[in-house]
Amino acid sequence: MACGKRMFTQVEDSIEKVAGEVTVCTKCRLCSTRKHAVPGEGMTTARLMFVGEAPGEQEDNQGRPFVGAAGKLLTELLESIGLRRGDVYITNIVKCRPPNNRPPRKDEAQTCGPYLERQIALICPRIICPMGNSAIHELMQTEDSVTKLHGVPFEVDSITYFPLYHPAAALYTFSLKKVMEEDFRKLSALLNSLTD
Ligand code: URA
Ligand code: SF4
Repeated sequence: MACGKRMFTQVEDSIEKVAGEVTVCTKCRLCSTRKHAVPGEGMTTARLMFVGEAPGEQEDNQGRPFVGAAGKLLTELLESIGLRRGDVYITNIVKCRPPNNRPPRKDEAQTCGPYLERQIALICPRIICPMGNSAIHELMQTEDSVTKLHGVPFEVDSITYFPLYHPAAALYTFSLKKVMEEDFRKLSALLNSLTD
């Protein structure tokens, strides 16, 4: 949803309100197996937003996104372009950990979707980076894969998406780390080219 719609968000809505609702949410089955819901964290006026698939074990333990091995790599990649985690906003398609880290089901992603939509409308980022196929397919209205789409900006409904590999993929396939580093350099150049 476009950030122009920001003016249509409920005046009383806020990132803290979304987080509070997520923390106690029981709208889908994932609530019954989570330890902690993971609303997201970062700068509430960030120009860059990163969206992963779902919390994993560490995230479920701590209630924070991307704090495990994949998160360490994401933090490194951000630092490689001069950004800290606190400069961006980081969240996931679904806010609760699926059992055994299975991929989120379509109905779970749909039920959880309005939280992400509110976060996007409130933060109004200039660029959204869906990381991995789940996030790309959920956000970008395409079935194309990350292999085809990564590292190139893509406009959908007046939002600029910049799809990336999921950092966990680079932990399994070492050669992808170089690809991700290159994509982050392109992302940095794109961000610097924006005038607002
Ligand atoms: N993988 C994700 O997709 N999200 C997290 O928060 C952690 C790992
Ligand atoms: Fe609610 Fe989303 Fe958690 Fe499901 S995954 S219980 S919709 S916060």
